Amino acid sequence: MVSRVIPVETFDLVIFGGTGDLARRKILPGLFRRFRAGQMPPGSRIIGAARSEMDDDGYRQMIREAIAEFGGDEKTDSDGIESFVAQLRYVAIDATGEGGWAQLAELMRGDVVRAFYFSVAPSLFGALAERLHAHGIADSESRIVVEKPFGRDLASAKALNATLAEHFDEQQIYRIDHYLGKETVQNLMAVRFGNVLFEPLWNSHYIDHIQITVAETVGVTGRGAYYDKSGAMRDMVQNHLMQLLCLIAMEPPSTYDADTVRDEKLKVIRALQAVEPHHIVRGQYDASAQGLSYREDAENPRSFTESFLAMKCHIANWRWATVPFYLRTGKRLKARSSEIAVVFKDLGHTIFEGDTARHRNILSIRLQPNEGMDLQVTIKEPGPGGMRLVDVPLDMSFAEALGPDQEAPDAYERLIMDVIRGNQTLFMRGDEVEAAWAWTDPIIEGWEARNDVPKLYDAGSAGPEDAMMLLHREGRRWRDIKG
Ligand code: NAD
Repeated sequence: MVSRVIPVETFDLVIFGGTGDLARRKILPGLFRRFRAGQMPPGSRIIGAARSEMDDDGYRQMIREAIAEFGGDEKTDSDGIESFVAQLRYVAIDATGEGGWAQLAELMRGDVVRAFYFSVAPSLFGALAERLHAHGIADSESRIVVEKPFGRDLASAKALNATLAEHFDEQQIYRIDHYLGKETVQNLMAVRFGNVLFEPLWNSHYIDHIQITVAETVGVTGRGAYYDKSGAMRDMVQNHLMQLLCLIAMEPPSTYDADTVRDEKLKVIRALQAVEPHHIVRGQYDASAQGLSYREDAENPRSFTESFLAMKCHIANWRWATVPFYLRTGKRLKARSSEIAVVFKDLGHTIFEGDTARHRNILSIRLQPNEGMDLQVTIKEPGPGGMRLVDVPLDMSFAEALGPDQEAPDAYERLIMDVIRGNQTLFMRGDEVEAAWAWTDPIIEGWEARNDVPKLYDAGSAGPEDAMMLLHREGRRWRDIKG
């Protein structure tokens, strides 16, 4: 299978916060990989813009070092790195003051795609948007990219949307959720809507339940103070898990077009029912040989913030009535693994002897590690021995499918190229974000009102015992968390 690289139009991409952690760890190394793949036209430029005083050469050196530290195999391509950094510029700029703006205005070209990546704290979004317009740097064709967190509740998300809307149309705003940039996520739509096999079965008649798990082995060490103000609900569920849920559950859009797809996702969020408190399990990891407890990492001995969350949700529409969606995410769990599992119902009748419940079809969609999908099907165990049934996976690993010389772009790379192409399909629309907060807010408010205390769980486990019970009491089991 040969994948084609289609170059984008020539662009000027300004990265506000170009010296920050995200820019050095993800954005610039990702852009270098797209450059090497031939996707970034030679005349394009990346302009770092941040507070530090530096010249172009200083910035180029910073990015050489970032690629050496955070790049993959491509970091040994020293000629490639030199050609890439030659396309970098730097402007020292103050988002809240006037310094640097005239210089940036002078640098920008009128005849190329202009994009502005706001890789800074959301409190600076308004100041940046205002100055981009005041200095005539952005016009009605320009695009802006904004990072999570997009608000911490409905009111703050609305305020952020309103601030951006003062200067940019919705068609110009790209709210990044890097989960949507994963190969598997797009493949989920290809599998559902590009095959005759699945869509007829994609409903409550054939699907028993759906599980979405995003498990991490890391704790919150080093970012405990930040994390303690958000927790798993705000940090993971409201955005990443919600987006995955939407793609699994949405109705087929009439076209693969940004607003048509996002209209269908929005309907899913709006159809989500309020979650009963006893359908939610919150947890905090305990101290272990692997490290400190959550409360110690967060430096807050009285913290009630959750580092783990498991919940059962329902979507109130014809397709999904009666089908539970179990969501689970947490830190310091037994493996780093993200997976969506569609568990089909048992056969109504079997002609074979023995326990049919074991033989269920399961479609599992792996986001990490080893992105891919497998479909568990039941076959006869090969060889003599009579009609014994076994479950085998029909496995499709994307890395294998691409072949040894091809590398799928990582999520950030793909999404940034989509910004340059002007394709918003894989970005969250303002109303989606607000609808997700409208569903999340009452749950969080309920915990606060009840002083809900998270359950402790062992580091390296699958979370608190109560999370197991959420499924066990309904005769179901969580999938094993495997790295
Ligand atoms: P950081 O603190 O490492 O970097 C912040 C950047 O903003 C620096 O380049 C700094 O110079 C610049 N900056 C700060 N104040 C400025 C001002 N007044 N004028 C101009 N520039 C200014 O932060 P980060 O980790 O790179 O994160 C940036 C944004 O991305 C944040 O909103 C963060 O929540 C979000 N985010 C980060 C990550 C990550 O992995 N780091 C992941 C997801 C989202």
